[in-house]
Amino acid sequence: MSDPNFNTKAFKRSLHESANYHRKGFGHQAEVTEEINLEYQSSLIQEIRQSNYQLQRGDVTIHLAEAFGFCWGVERAVAMAYETRKHFPKERIWITNEIIHNPSVNQRLQEMNVGFIEVIEGKKDFSVVNSKDVVILPAFGASVSEMQLLNDLGCTMVDTTCPWVSKVWNSVERHKKKDFTSIIHGKYKHEETVATSSFANTYLVVLNLEEANYVSNYILNGGNKEDFLAKFKKAYSEGFDPDVNLERVGIANQTTMLKTETETIGKLFENTMLQKYGPTELNEHFMSFNTICDATQERQDAMLELVKKDLDLMMVIGGFNSSNTTHLQEIAIEKDIPSYHIDSVDRIISGKRVKHKPLNKEIEVKENWLPDGEIVVGITSGASTPDKVVEDIIEKIFQLKAKTAVKV
Ligand code: SF4
Repeated sequence: MSDPNFNTKAFKRSLHESANYHRKGFGHQAEVTEEINLEYQSSLIQEIRQSNYQLQRGDVTIHLAEAFGFCWGVERAVAMAYETRKHFPKERIWITNEIIHNPSVNQRLQEMNVGFIEVIEGKKDFSVVNSKDVVILPAFGASVSEMQLLNDLGCTMVDTTCPWVSKVWNSVERHKKKDFTSIIHGKYKHEETVATSSFANTYLVVLNLEEANYVSNYILNGGNKEDFLAKFKKAYSEGFDPDVNLERVGIANQTTMLKTETETIGKLFENTMLQKYGPTELNEHFMSFNTICDATQERQDAMLELVKKDLDLMMVIGGFNSSNTTHLQEIAIEKDIPSYHIDSVDRIISGKRVKHKPLNKEIEVKENWLPDGEIVVGITSGASTPDKVVEDIIEKIFQLKAKTAVKV
């Protein structure tokens, strides 16, 4: 829980001035870019991009979303992690969490001898870290208390937090300065939202429009405080009181939420405060800054275009705990397109069976997922997914369909 008297802004400033803290690379950019391209890029994906995002082979037509895969922030974080290994060849290197939500990238870091801080009984075990070690903070950031702890340990920190995430933290600082409650559109357990909320004094995390409407209704009409607190259990700051802390609200977001929903929630609270306090008082009760990241926006817009095509199925590729990938899948589901969220080619067991994660459910096996005859397949991937993973999945579909075509 954050200490309301702790000056997070001053702490960050002192961190930026510290010789132990790095938030830029170490001058090995050219070397690591070559390495990363070799490991994660794909010539097949290049070919599809150059052919207007389409490719036909045998019975299969592939339509690729026009924006997908690795975003700028992820590329930057992965490159910084690779550079860290080069710059500190002998030191022990740790990472406080997955660098990004992608199993192949995290596996590769482990092979490079980068250790992941273990979670024991729900808490990260930093007892393994000593002052000579190097600790990488992932693209979605780390909480203030984690940064404080590492700073106190005196270890070297390499902070790969995406600047878009830092932008949200700055918004939260502005809310705090004016004594506003931050209403964060996100998942309260997601590492990025945990980090963002650690910068706020008072916050409430809302997952979706339904929860936002509930809060709006409470602001306008009041309600049962116990029910409110039970509904948002674990999603608010210590001592949060809806009767007191919803008079002045600022909007913040987890950068990878569905952007249309973030915008709608922002508008909803603006209208709520307008209704309650009138236009002349609005600025005293409502604050909002645009903090939806470009990459999330572009990927979701491209997906909205892709689902307009006549698709037989959609492959949505990305880590199962990747929020932005899940939102891409939501768009396919809204259009009633059979869609399969998988994180690697190994999930495709055969042309008959695929192991996938349906939206908001556990992983399950779907039988007869690949239709016979000619098919049109839409493909997209989340911001943490290397092109190589996408290539493997497209090749597998070509292969499976080629086999069935021969049988016929
Ligand atoms: S999705 Fe956006 S906020 Fe997240 S790492 Fe990529 S660019 Fe940064």
